[in-house]
Amino acid sequence: MGCLASKNSEGDEGKTRKKVVMVGLDNAGKTSILNRVRTQHFMPSAPTVGLNIETITFGNLELLIFDIGGRARSLWSHYYENLDALIFVVDSTDRSRLLNVREEFIKLNDELRYKNSVVLVLFNKQDAIEELVDYSDLLEECGVNEVLELDTIVQKCSAKNGDGLIEG
Ligand code: GDP
Repeated sequence: MGCLASKNSEGDEGKTRKKVVMVGLDNAGKTSILNRVRTQHFMPSAPTVGLNIETITFGNLELLIFDIGGRARSLWSHYYENLDALIFVVDSTDRSRLLNVREEFIKLNDELRYKNSVVLVLFNKQDAIEELVDYSDLLEECGVNEVLELDTIVQKCSAKNGDGLIEG
């Protein structure tokens, strides 16, 4: 994941290890993204109950990824210690919950303000977005550029067809 290349912590075998926590409302596609990046396939997933932990390697970069269930919101911040990056996944097809996403961004400001970690916001399910929906409206409705006061990168993607994931 591109945004991680800037922070360093060397592992034993010359690999650069990063701790990444992936959060987002339930059903956003976190597990699907993790599966897609890990296996290059889109596979059926059940809602995450609690936590999935995966290690993914990109060349010299080793990512330890914590995928935390959307319904386990109270657990999220317990995993923010020694964080290199946070990935926040948004379901781009679920406009009705973009205000909830905005509320989560406000909480993240407080929780991550002094952690010196980068935030990658993935607008997932772009393959299923209605043609009339404008991407810039989604960004505005959840307030990603105005509410989130952290070092943030925004990327649209699809776990289904893989678009945008490696760029992110
Ligand atoms: P999580 O609760 O955030 O881990 O979400 P899941 O990965 O379990 O996905 C929730 C639902 O959205 C599942 O039915 C997935 O098949 C579906 N889904 C996830 N990503 C995509 C995507 O990029 N496109 C489409 N069309 N469906 C997706």
